[in-house]
Amino acid sequence: MEILACPIDKHYPLELYVFEEKEEIVEGLIVCPKCLRWYPIRDEIPEMLPDELRKESEDLPFLKKWREKIPEKILLEGKPFNLKRNV
Ligand SMILES: [Zn+2]
Repeated sequence: MEILACPIDKHYPLELYVFEEKEEIVEGLIVCPKCLRWYPIRDEIPEMLPDELRKESEDLPFLKKWREKIPEKILLEGKPFNLKRNV
């Protein structure tokens, strides 16, 4: 999988966390260590969307689903959504 730069600040490289893998990464997380934005990989597709196109109703369940495998920093301070209110 080709990992691109952060769409917000163009930071490179990004961090990759793999949750489920077959021939491709099925589910995982891409993290920008500079701005702490995180991007989900769902159904083998990295969703590198700007904040205004993100849906909290879809992204919070993703964080909760994988919370055991996601770094605490992202769970608490990740952008554009995190679990701080919900921990
Ligand atoms: Zn960034």
